[in-house]
Amino acid sequence: MKPYRPQKIYIESDARDLPHTRRILKNLPGVPFEIIQDTQSLQRVLAERPDPIGEGKRFLLLKRDKGRSFKPFPEAEDYLSCDYFTLHTAEGCDLECSYCILQAYLTNPFLTVYVNLEEMLEGLEKILQGNPGRFFRIGTGQLADSLSLDPVTGFSETLVPFFARQQNAVLELKTKSAFIDRLSALKHEGHTIVSWSMNTKKIQTEEEHKCASLEARLQAAGQVIQAGYRVGFHFDPIIDYPGWEADYGEVIENLFSKIPADAIAWISLGCLRFMPALKTLMRERFPKSELPLAEWVTGMDGKMRYFKARRIEIYREVADMIREKSKHATLYLCMESPEVWRKVFGLEYTKSSVCALLDHAGKFSLGIENPARNSF
Ligand code: SF4
Repeated sequence: MKPYRPQKIYIESDARDLPHTRRILKNLPGVPFEIIQDTQSLQRVLAERPDPIGEGKRFLLLKRDKGRSFKPFPEAEDYLSCDYFTLHTAEGCDLECSYCILQAYLTNPFLTVYVNLEEMLEGLEKILQGNPGRFFRIGTGQLADSLSLDPVTGFSETLVPFFARQQNAVLELKTKSAFIDRLSALKHEGHTIVSWSMNTKKIQTEEEHKCASLEARLQAAGQVIQAGYRVGFHFDPIIDYPGWEADYGEVIENLFSKIPADAIAWISLGCLRFMPALKTLMRERFPKSELPLAEWVTGMDGKMRYFKARRIEIYREVADMIREKSKHATLYLCMESPEVWRKVFGLEYTKSSVCALLDHAGKFSLGIENPARNSF
């Protein structure tokens, strides 16, 4: 997997003199750049192209965030959420997963990086210090991959030491890349958890284009563990296809043969789900993908999902395979109802018990709690 190199960089005029802008230009020698007043006209030109989403990834846009960067993860009524917060340091992704929800979600196709990172963190620090009794789990991987652009931005060198200074927060860097080189030298104090999305070899090669191989992800995880970080894994999206059990079993076997269970902060499970508009986009952009052909039902949040009974069956099977390897792993489901949680784990869960479970796992990384338990 090669580091990102755009065809051209656009810089909004009020971001031209920021240190991160200069650093990014230095990290991309020879890439032409242009100072612009706004992106509207460029977006209109891009919208006329045959594949605006794919084309947009070739252009890097550097701009200031105007105070919208820190948000609670969107919750959906009827599904258990876990009070996760997101910090948008970038929007869009240079990688190309066929199932990527950003294709249907983002209106700006340019790969956008917010270069006023220090200002964003100043605002965040005020929020964290203003809520000393609350524990925050914060991720940068909702609208972007947390590390795929790190060779270009070097943002980890600002983010990781910033979180190391916070008493009541952990940062999750969630990625499908293996760009962890900068992390080893950083002072993290357990306040950063690096996590990887995992899938089967078939899904990785057929659907996760431009991403690091599964081996490279596990190797990168091993390296950050050596540097004292705890790691997370996200089996998300789990995809149902003939032979999925054996394939996911192989990934789990391989994972636990390489990664010590006590270095894992949490493991999430989530079956593939997407907004209906994504189905058309997948067909257009990834005609070889078989994902749109599966049987889908519309969930309570309007997203397409596998039937509930099938999801429960899949989660049980994957959770059992993980439990065989690590009896006390902190497992959680992403965007599922209390009923699905109960049927998978055999216990009643509420939003507050899910939050407590994950806060516990986050605090354990800081050495202030015992291991979290949701094993039975
Ligand atoms: S790595 Fe994540 S953000 Fe990037 S294309 Fe894949 S699913 Fe989308």
